[in-house]
Amino acid sequence: MKIYTPDIGKIKKTIKETEDTKTFQIELENKILREHFYFNPGEFVLITVFGVGEAPFSISSSPFNKNYFEITARKTGNVTNALFNLKEGNKIGVRGPHGKGYPMDEFEHTNIILISGGCGLAPLKSLIEYVIQKRGYYNKLTLLYGAKTPQNIIYEKEISKWKKIKNFDVHLTVDKGNKKWKGNLGVVTKLINKVKNFENSVVCLCGPPVMMKYSIPELKKKGVEDEDIFVSLERKMQCGLKICCHCNINDVYVCKDGPVFRYLDIKDLSELGW
Ligand SMILES: Cc1cc2nc3c(=O)[nH]c(=O)nc-3n(C[C@H](O)[C@H](O)[C@H](O)COP(=O)(O)OP(=O)(O)OC[C@H]3O[C@@H](n4cnc5c(N)ncnc54)[C@H](O)[C@@H]3O)c2cc1C
Repeated sequence: MKIYTPDIGKIKKTIKETEDTKTFQIELENKILREHFYFNPGEFVLITVFGVGEAPFSISSSPFNKNYFEITARKTGNVTNALFNLKEGNKIGVRGPHGKGYPMDEFEHTNIILISGGCGLAPLKSLIEYVIQKRGYYNKLTLLYGAKTPQNIIYEKEISKWKKIKNFDVHLTVDKGNKKWKGNLGVVTKLINKVKNFENSVVCLCGPPVMMKYSIPELKKKGVEDEDIFVSLERKMQCGLKICCHCNINDVYVCKDGPVFRYLDIKDLSELGW
């Protein structure tokens, strides 16, 4: 069926982020599809490594970029290991963009606070690049990002650029430092205290479930309402089209109703355990 047939993409460039994480710049072969590839930050694509399998990845580049899009993948299993072995010029399958991302129109003229851990920064990088390109429409941007060690920090080049942007506060932390590390130590939730003002703000969380679980009570203490918190969920997924029932939590489908959800809409789903 056509809906399951991937389009062909070519790996234009690979960027090593850490020992186990790489960014892939992908160009769709078909010029018309390439020019009409529009997505909202937070949406994802299903990538096929031919002969191995398919897996979902958040799009990590700006939606305004029309020549290629990027994903950032961490080596965890079959597809990601095979993806790591591919070289520039190799072909892959692409389905999507799929899902529901961040409501960027609703975020206009608010402060945006991003809380992220590990590879969870991927969809938020897309959001950050979107905001940078439409700077006049958004108020202050704050990024709280945590990684296990300094060597596990992804997007180092981008982060140093972001640190120089006016009205954009960037705070990093690592669980375990090294000789060179002079920054914060500890889990990312500790950085929430660095934010002095939560008024007129939305908060987007993307990272390990445990990070989201412990961040939400801290945000509530600061007076952030459930409707102003956005979480990105990950579930084992197959069709990406709300057909196969692999990614649903009760009657909520991560592939189509998410992966980005307003916390208010999902907080009572018992499976989340938050
Ligand atoms: C919307 C969405 C966006 C995502 N975005 C990203 C992204 O930007 N970057 C990224 O790196 N990842 C992302 N992921 C996660 C990624 O899709 C998964 O890690 C995917 O499983 C990787 O495929 P794989 O074949 O390499 O790993 P798999 O072989 O699927 O293994 C992944 C992990 O799951 C375990 N596992 C495998 N099968 C089972 C099973 N049956 N039961 C229990 N555990 C099992 C493995 O041991 C391993 O730890 C996203 C997922 C979703 C749903």
